[in-house]
Amino acid sequence: MSQLKQETQRRRTFAIISHPDAGKTTLTEKLLLLGGAIRTAGAVKSRKSEKFATSDWMELEKQRGISVTSSVMQFSYDNFKINILDTPGHQDFSEDTYRTLMAVDSVVMIIDVAKGVEPQTIKLFKVCRDRGIPIFTFINKLDRQGKDPLELFEEIEDVLGIESFPINFPIGMGQSFKGVYDRFEHKIEWYNEKKERQTLALDSAEELGEALKDVADEAAINQLEEELMLLDEAGNSFDIEAVKAGKQTPVFFGSAISSFGVPSFLEHYLQMAPPPAPRESSIGTIEPDQKGFSGFVFKIQANMNPAHRDRIAFLRICSGKFERGMSVTLDRTKKQLKLAQPQAFFADSREIIDDAYPGDIVGLYDPGFYQIGDTVCAAKDTFNFGELPQFPPEHFAKVRAKNAMKQKHFLKGVNQLAQEGAIQVYRTKYEETILGVVGKLQFDVFIYRMKAEYGVDLDMQPMPHQIAKWIPNKEDAEKLQKSSNNLIVTDHQERQVIIFENDFGLRWFQQKYPDVLLADSGK
Ligand code: GDP
Repeated sequence: MSQLKQETQRRRTFAIISHPDAGKTTLTEKLLLLGGAIRTAGAVKSRKSEKFATSDWMELEKQRGISVTSSVMQFSYDNFKINILDTPGHQDFSEDTYRTLMAVDSVVMIIDVAKGVEPQTIKLFKVCRDRGIPIFTFINKLDRQGKDPLELFEEIEDVLGIESFPINFPIGMGQSFKGVYDRFEHKIEWYNEKKERQTLALDSAEELGEALKDVADEAAINQLEEELMLLDEAGNSFDIEAVKAGKQTPVFFGSAISSFGVPSFLEHYLQMAPPPAPRESSIGTIEPDQKGFSGFVFKIQANMNPAHRDRIAFLRICSGKFERGMSVTLDRTKKQLKLAQPQAFFADSREIIDDAYPGDIVGLYDPGFYQIGDTVCAAKDTFNFGELPQFPPEHFAKVRAKNAMKQKHFLKGVNQLAQEGAIQVYRTKYEETILGVVGKLQFDVFIYRMKAEYGVDLDMQPMPHQIAKWIPNKEDAEKLQKSSNNLIVTDHQERQVIIFENDFGLRWFQQKYPDVLLADSGK
């Protein structure tokens, strides 16, 4: 097997999705500890922000050194190289999360055993399902009393519409939590406060009663045996092809806080989860282990280090070997670029690297070359992986620099921050600037960053509008400019956009102009 193929095969790139508080930070940290990427607990900072006031969030972001290195983390385990892509916890930043999900090969979904499937999980799950990404479920906090396991499987199937297959099954819960039983390996993993891994191998499930007789009462053992039998007889059968197609989710139980169930989860996950998959491009399927290097930018983060005011484009490698100093072409502009100082991300540092392989994420120094969704490739005949999905903004505001003398800085800041993808910028025919965002908190971040990074104080006027629709037909747009009272603006690519206050306004418009075509995006 070629080195490229070998390296590709041992890569696993995933993101963790969950509702805030389910245990994403805790699980990430335990995985990094297992991989030896960090040495002490507490090294991973929780990035959830809803518990903080905005000002606290700003403080956090000021320490970007931390938050950004932890947004991509690489570590090794057994012979695998694992990349975890972190996603912001707050739903106002879910657009960032959606795009990150385009860069992974599988997803780990954490569910709090007491809370079951929660709203943010459902939202993120749908994005994964639409892409057919394999999804692995970790049901967390078994040291607390929660919902009945069978009820949880039903919930996963009913609410999320995916088959579940429990790889292990809890023995008790909360006060009486004894451990988990591995249905594949017929192994009991004992829960203990000392956080040591203690297992007992059985020949079959029939030996469970005997093995548990000293730690559980007869009624509990009978119930466990019945439930396991029910699962064997009436439950789904394990289907690795369905798992790979995102149609069946393997389910694991554990307690991340004491790392219980985490090593066995990781080991099963590494065996079942797929390595980097082929990707569709403008010239057909691109195999990861084909020679020519290619990748796409899924995230841009500016000024991560206030001392350097640099900007980093996060590139997911899709095919070929990446080498430091290599020349590539940016498909959108056909510009030739030399990738001189590529960075890799570890739990607490970023380092210049010499090479990387499909599945890996490299950070590229970006003096303003890249946009989100850009493809770069080594081939002369360039191609692209298509645009990343954009989510229609739901909040709008008019902005201008308080001091008119700062107009140049204002425009620069607006354009650069728009390139990062968190805001969309529109202009009215009077050259006014309107921002559109998916989550309101992004306005606060924008005000803060314009001041901190571009020295511009802003005047921001929130607008009552909520819906943006693109007008693909230019003549329609011209006609409407004259006749309609709705706000018509242009986006960054000079496409016409009409903005409505609410559904009622939109419906009224559609009745009045039934022939005008409206689209959800500019594509
Ligand atoms: P996130 O919002 O998903 O990143 O959740 P965190 O990892 O920050 O966890 C939220 C809270 O749940 C924290 O107080 C954790 O200590 C706690 N927690 C995480 N895992 C467990 C667990 O296995 N058992 C219990 N009892 N608490 C946990």
